[in-house]
Formats: sequence, structure tokens, C-alpha cells
Amino acid sequence: MFGGRDYHIHTGHIGCGGNTATVAQIFRRCGELGLASIAITDHLNRLDQLDQHKAIRADIENNSTDMEVFFGVELDIPPHMAPLPYNKVIKENLGFHFAIGGVHGTYLDTYDLTTLIDLQHQAMCKTAADPLIDVVVHPWWFSKNEFDKKGFPWFDDLSVVPQDLHLEFIRTAVANETAIEINAGAIYCNPTYSDRFKEQYNDYVQLMVSEGARLSVCSDAHSLDHLERALVAEDILTNIGVPEESLWHPAQGRSMRILEQ
Ligand SMILES: [Zn+2]
Ligand SMILES: [Zn+2]
Repeated sequence: MFGGRDYHIHTGHIGCGGNTATVAQIFRRCGELGLASIAITDHLNRLDQLDQHKAIRADIENNSTDMEVFFGVELDIPPHMAPLPYNKVIKENLGFHFAIGGVHGTYLDTYDLTTLIDLQHQAMCKTAADPLIDVVVHPWWFSKNEFDKKGFPWFDDLSVVPQDLHLEFIRTAVANETAIEINAGAIYCNPTYSDRFKEQYNDYVQLMVSEGARLSVCSDAHSLDHLERALVAEDILTNIGVPEESLWHPAQGRSMRILEQ
């Protein structure tokens, strides 16, 4: 274990669905799990959600804990890059410590594997190069619901992504000092992915480490009983030999430094 960190947690404020928790409940549960450093990162998909983020920030300030706590935000980055509900002014005004972001859908109506991989890859690289984004979330995660609804064959074989695309994405993240997320909820604890996919993902993580990438460990918890997944992610990284110096900490966030300049 790497000291217990979790830099992607959802609360009930935005209503992500499920049995989402209050900040007080999250603090209590993370403390029970022995975590030392966490971040609350609810979704920001529209400007009218900023008031809810103010309430989240107030909750963080009004609940005491011994843990180190950061106030982050999760952005959805579609391949066509519509204007994000986020910029330097919003970051400053709301007091966000950092932003995480990534793709949350295939953006396809008709199945075509080559197009699907290309769209994801382009959006992931764009996210990794965005100076306001500190962490690229859950690379190559897809919603099984979306695939089932559209009748697409499930994406359960990471070897369909060419190695040179993996390298281009990882090197873009490294060059821009953007971390890459190791998301237990989306990948390792996700029952829709096979053991083979998870083993392929281990190789992908090792490639990140060998290229010098920083990894952000998280549960992506949408309920209290999902918080323990952060420890699952830490265990997996330990078991596959990831050194502690490969792990990301929010103080290394690029967008923090940009604002200080
Ligand atoms: Zn997400
Ligand atoms: Zn999330």
C-alpha cells in the first residue's frame, strides 16, 4: 500500500446516481479505511452546476478530518471539444485545486472499431495536452450500457489498440506533466471487463511507468461502499511492481502551478 490515496470521489451533490454519499460520510469512511489523502471530484458538465460545487466546497470546509483533502472537478471531454464549462477564472473563483477529465462515451451511432479507437485516442491526447487538466481519467473505459443500447460488440480486448497509439498518448501526458488515472471502479472492479482485459491493462500501466508517467490512484466511488476500491487499485499497482515515485499527488498538478505564475 502507498499510504492510502484516492483522487476521484463523487458526492450526492450533483446526483451522479446510485447511493452517493455526503462529504461527512466520505470523510468518515475514508478515515476507517486508513486513507491519508483524498480528493472530492464531482462532475461539472454545465455552468449551472457551479452552485452545487460551491456547496461541495463549503461541505469540505465545514467537516473536519485528519486527512489531506483536495477539492477537484471532473470534466467530460468529447472528441469534438465543445467549449468546456471550465476555465482559469472559474477555477480561481470556485477554488478548485485541480481538474480531472476525459471521454465518457463512444460518440458513435454506427459501430466502427477503427473510428472508435481513433476518436478516443484523439480526445485522450487533447485532454493530456490541455493546460487546465491535471489528470486524464479512466483511459479506455466505456459504458457497457451504451454498448448494449446501441448493439455494439463489447470492448473487452485492449490489444485492438495499436501500441504506437498507447505510446503517443502516454508521451503526450508525460510531456505536458499530466497524470494518468488508474481507476479501480471503472476498470479493475468493473465486472463487465474480463480478467484478460484487466491483465492487458496491467501491461498498459507498466508501459506508462516505463515511459515515466505519473499515475493517479482512485476509486471513482459513487457510493460509500465503493470507497474501498482505492485500496484495490493500490494493491494492484504494488503487485505489478509500480514504484511509489510513479504515483501522482495533487501538489504536482500542472494547473496549480499555472495559477501561481
Ligand atoms: Zn468519469
Ligand atoms: Zn467520476
